[in-house]
Amino acid sequence: MSVIGNFIGGERVASTSGRTGPVYNPATGAQIATVALSSADETRAAIANAEAAFKIWSKVTPLNRARVMFKYKELIEKHADEIATLISQEHGKVFSDAKGELTRGLEVVEFACGIPHLQKGEHSLNVGRGVDSYSQMMPMGVCAGISPFNFPAMVPMWMFPVAIACGNTFIMKPSEKDPSTPLRLAELLKEAGLPDGVFNIVNGDKEAVDVLLTDERIQAVSFVGSTPIAEYIYSTASAHGKRVQALGGAKNHMIVMPDAEPSQVVNSLMGAAYGSAGERCMAISVAVCVGDEVADHLIKDLSENIATMTVGAGISDGPEAHMGPLITREHADKVLGFIDSGVAEGATLVVDGRNFVVSGHENGYFVGPTLFDNVKAGMRIYQEEVFGPVLCVVRVNSYEEALNLINAHEYGNGTAIFTRDGDTARNFVENVQVGMVGVNVPIPVPMAFHSFGGWKRSLFGPLHMHGPDGVRFYTRMKTITARWPTGLSAGPEFTMPTMK
Ligand code: NAD
Repeated sequence: MSVIGNFIGGERVASTSGRTGPVYNPATGAQIATVALSSADETRAAIANAEAAFKIWSKVTPLNRARVMFKYKELIEKHADEIATLISQEHGKVFSDAKGELTRGLEVVEFACGIPHLQKGEHSLNVGRGVDSYSQMMPMGVCAGISPFNFPAMVPMWMFPVAIACGNTFIMKPSEKDPSTPLRLAELLKEAGLPDGVFNIVNGDKEAVDVLLTDERIQAVSFVGSTPIAEYIYSTASAHGKRVQALGGAKNHMIVMPDAEPSQVVNSLMGAAYGSAGERCMAISVAVCVGDEVADHLIKDLSENIATMTVGAGISDGPEAHMGPLITREHADKVLGFIDSGVAEGATLVVDGRNFVVSGHENGYFVGPTLFDNVKAGMRIYQEEVFGPVLCVVRVNSYEEALNLINAHEYGNGTAIFTRDGDTARNFVENVQVGMVGVNVPIPVPMAFHSFGGWKRSLFGPLHMHGPDGVRFYTRMKTITARWPTGLSAGPEFTMPTMK
């Protein structure tokens, strides 16, 4: 069985820690590899490598850094099928969805191609007579990224292309559940011309992560994962003087107003709730129907649509399934436990995804699409992130009630409203306490040239990922005030300079 190691100093290297974790094919339940769980010392060695590379890479001109990104874009496009296959094999999502996530990551590379423009800084002529001022966006140094299992390509690509384009070097600690994709992405970046040591991958668990959070050579930490870990990452790394952005979990609501177009609502909800088996931080897991008529209609439409869904392996010889398995047996069991709790707490189970077997894949981690009606705010399936193919319908009497429900929830990642009424939509956009908002768009993931991030317990730290916030996160400002002999005053000045 192959052992997945690290990528340090421009090459794949075996780990010496002696600790490994299993990597499964979720569609079959078979173990397909083991992944190294790197030691603290190996992680420190990777940081030393990245620190040495920073001295060289930070002096490479922005134009030449951009040229590496242009070449990288070309290579990712060329190898898209191969990368999507790796994603699908270890994550389980269907092939076309895997290609979709790669495209969203590729868009960040395209954004990073514009770094000479993005990192220009600011300049003011004559802030005082004969005095000029300019601000330079300097790279930070060695930065680190820690990513979750659900987007093994896209989430790392939210981080490292921008960080590296800004002149930093980077240590990536991918999810130990599906580690092969980031390694391939690292190899292609080397092929694109990136000098050795600029981008390193350390596979592992808490032992490696804790070094990244505390080692004084790390300047900034980007994290995406569950909220308890995001909070730990934020508090530990910031206590060690680092800049941190830590994105956490979600419970994304979609309001369905009585005037919404029913077919648009049901089509949008099907994809947003069950795409990627609900293992998306922007999946819609709660539909809030305003009025019983809307809810009755929606439940009927959803039930009919779910009956036509196909569930199967991410890659198969036949027609592609709509969704695949969950990531691990443990996670599938957790999702099944949530369904049990919904039933026990009195929600109406309309479509039951338990005891779901895909023929030929009896040991795969499949949970069927599940639909609950009459879910109430106090229930566990409403309060907690399920991260599976489980959609909850909550019935309310008014738009205000729906808005208050969303604003009272601890998470604030994404949300959407479906309506034809501009006034209601405008009120929602203004008053909802959520970071990413869709109007008749179910999964409003911002494009690479905007920034991605939630509010409340979905994000710890002030800056969102990629887009303008990404460039701000991976640079620090240095502001220079300069005068030359013609601007010098005759004698010493003892009062506060006011630049007249
Ligand atoms: P996770 O929090 O279990 O793991 C994320 C990363 O943290 C992994 O690399 C893991 O190895 C590491 N980690 C886990 N426990 C740790 C510990 N005790 N100390 C240090 N490091 C630790 O998350 P996951 O299960 O891989 O991913 C699913 C979660 O990610 C969901 O909650 C989902 O909402 C969230 N997510 C959020 C976003 C977003 O943009 N907000 C995007 C994708 C996923």
